[in-house]
Amino acid sequence: MSALPHASLLCPNCYQDFRVAAWRVLPGAEIGCPHCHQIMRFDASKPEHRHTIDRARAARKKQRERIENHKSLLTARAEVSRPMPEDLEELVRRLRELLAMDPPPERRRG
Ligand SMILES: [Zn+2]
Repeated sequence: MSALPHASLLCPNCYQDFRVAAWRVLPGAEIGCPHCHQIMRFDASKPEHRHTIDRARAARKKQRERIENHKSLLTARAEVSRPMPEDLEELVRRLRELLAMDPPPERRRG
């Protein structure tokens, strides 16, 4: 499976299907058939092209959402996966850092 979103096209000249990257499927774009080399031009006013253009747009949107999800997942993971310090002194230093970040305990007033 490819990572890039694709659209399946049917050549109106030789009736063979082929796949192109979804970002190429835009109104007015020209795409050559890899089988017969006929150039097809996407016309948004033709229902059969409209359908392909819409599907390609949906595939691009889905891909963007996948990337955003993946990014936020990676960010969240990076925050929790700070490696354990290897030596004890470093561990103690970090624990002190953590303690210093806590608000100081409230003192009772006599
Ligand atoms: Zn063709």
